[in-house]
Amino acid sequence: MALLQISEPGQAPDPHQRRLAIGIDLGTTHSLVAAMRHGVAECLPDAQGRTLLPSAVRYLSSAPGRQIGFDALAAQATDPLNTIVSVKRLMGRKREDVAMVSQLPYSVLDTPSMASVDTVAGVKTPVEVSAEILATLRYRAEDSFDDEVFGAVITVPAYFDDAQRQATKDAAKLAGLEVLRLINEPTAAAIAYGLDEGSEGVYAVFDLGGGTFDVSILRLSAGVFEVIATGGDSALGGDDYDRVLANAVLAQAGLGDLAQLDATDRATLLHAARACKQSLSDQASARLHAGLSAGTLNVDIDRAYFAQATAELTQRTIKVSKRALRDAGLGVDALQGVVMVGGSTRMPVVREAVAAWFGREPLTNLNPDEVVALGAARQAHVLAGNAGSEEMLLLDVTPLSLGLETMGGLVERIVPRNSTIPTARAQDFTTYKDGQTALALHVVQGERDLVQDCRSLARFELRGIPPMAAGAARIRVSFTVDADGLLQVSAKEQGTGVEAKIEVKPSYGLSDEQIATMLQEGFATAQADMAARALVEARVEADRMLLATQSALHADGDLLNDAQRADIDQAMVGLRALLEASSDAAQIDAATEDLAKRTEGFAAARMNKGIAQALAGQKLENI
Ligand code: ADP
Ligand code: MG
Repeated sequence: MALLQISEPGQAPDPHQRRLAIGIDLGTTHSLVAAMRHGVAECLPDAQGRTLLPSAVRYLSSAPGRQIGFDALAAQATDPLNTIVSVKRLMGRKREDVAMVSQLPYSVLDTPSMASVDTVAGVKTPVEVSAEILATLRYRAEDSFDDEVFGAVITVPAYFDDAQRQATKDAAKLAGLEVLRLINEPTAAAIAYGLDEGSEGVYAVFDLGGGTFDVSILRLSAGVFEVIATGGDSALGGDDYDRVLANAVLAQAGLGDLAQLDATDRATLLHAARACKQSLSDQASARLHAGLSAGTLNVDIDRAYFAQATAELTQRTIKVSKRALRDAGLGVDALQGVVMVGGSTRMPVVREAVAAWFGREPLTNLNPDEVVALGAARQAHVLAGNAGSEEMLLLDVTPLSLGLETMGGLVERIVPRNSTIPTARAQDFTTYKDGQTALALHVVQGERDLVQDCRSLARFELRGIPPMAAGAARIRVSFTVDADGLLQVSAKEQGTGVEAKIEVKPSYGLSDEQIATMLQEGFATAQADMAARALVEARVEADRMLLATQSALHADGDLLNDAQRADIDQAMVGLRALLEASSDAAQIDAATEDLAKRTEGFAAARMNKGIAQALAGQKLENI
């Protein structure tokens, strides 16, 4: 019989036995995997030595069923309907909420819970498509280290909401990956630059990828990053530079524009425009060559022509950056540095515009394609326990406020937007009616005061509250947002301990434009909301007063003489009539106040009766 070595309790694990922890940048255009080797983070290449994996999956009608990465991309021009690119835009979204859905070259279906894609191999969800990409990267890492992956840190855009984060986690699970944590892309980039070990201060992360632009303002203090503002444009990226260049060339050749070409010509020309654009990043001029069905295009493009054709796009990135800084309440001088992320920041036009507006040279010495994956790998290394005691703590923020619906359709904000996560907040609520034994909880997200203007995330009920007088129950509602940005809400009646909780897996789908619009509306309508809130509050208070008086009259009406009773009845009739007719909060408040005054004597009489009852039969020393 073989003897197994049993480690003693408390004994440190073998220092040579490290766990393979990987960082994955699951990008809209490209994805990468990185891991620590000999203390340095590096991106892992495929068998051909390429670190970038195009985020593209082509589905086939026969075995092997699919192609992934470069093979898929190569077929895009000839098989656009089955070649799924930019699937990140669909993650956790309903079809109507997908940015630029009409420009995607394949057909997006309006399936329940999340949009999906119709292919020759059947209907595929974005979670399945992403899982193909994640699994490819996982195998790459396992081959590279000849070891099994222990866990992964996967990056997501800072603005990703619960549904999008959940969809990303689901994809990882499907790919057989243990998610150590989801972290924000800008935070990963900052870690890759080692900013966490450097001087404290505020940094901007400027990420211009293939189809999206994100800018984030991070504050580093005591080795901890906090995202203090985010901004972006989900319809702005390198693809737009390709499109604008292609259109400029077509117009110049008198061939109209991209919309007039068939799918194959369009893909061919966009491909050529992209190659030309990329060459222009390290040479002064480049040839755009494309064989179209109408003939061959052959044009020399120089940097000045390219800069002019795309100036409007570059200006938009600066405008969005300005807004993000303004949101953070900061000026450019407050920044300690600017980090460049994303393949499109290789373009000299972009670097120059950033340097000019931010008034400093941005950090570009790390490969802008790799920087996010490198940072994720460093974080994975720590979370897997390979780094020993040095612990890196990460803070991110919630993009929108989270709250609960209260009486009258008002929102009580529990976790304000831009709160650092992980976070836990609690607030006490009470019942509205005498003997109420159940409470309906409605969790909403947004900046507006009225429920109807916010997004509904989830509903659940707390049952089994012991019957008590209105306002006597104390129900603590806790919101917990974990390090991955996922929300859990629980409600507990403090007296009995009855509890209900819900893990919020929101009905998928809220676009970043919608987030932006919701934020904007929140600011623009604050005034109107305040008035609306005052009115609703006045009505709720009036209703509550009427209900309380009604039940007091029912129980102890005999304590009143006829005149007193008539006085109260009259005040109630008046208040009810006002509730029907008036939308003047102040007027309703005054009438409620009046009813309260007129019932003061009655309340005192009831209290005396209650005390008399409690005292009846008791000896003085027991009190
Ligand atoms: P994503 O984060 O959206 O996956 P990436 O960061 O990988 O995107 O960026 C992809 C974009 O970068 C593409 O539009 C690509 O054309 C562009 N890009 C890559 N290399 C260069 C280069 N040398 N010059 C200009 N653009 C480049
Ligand atoms: Mg990216």
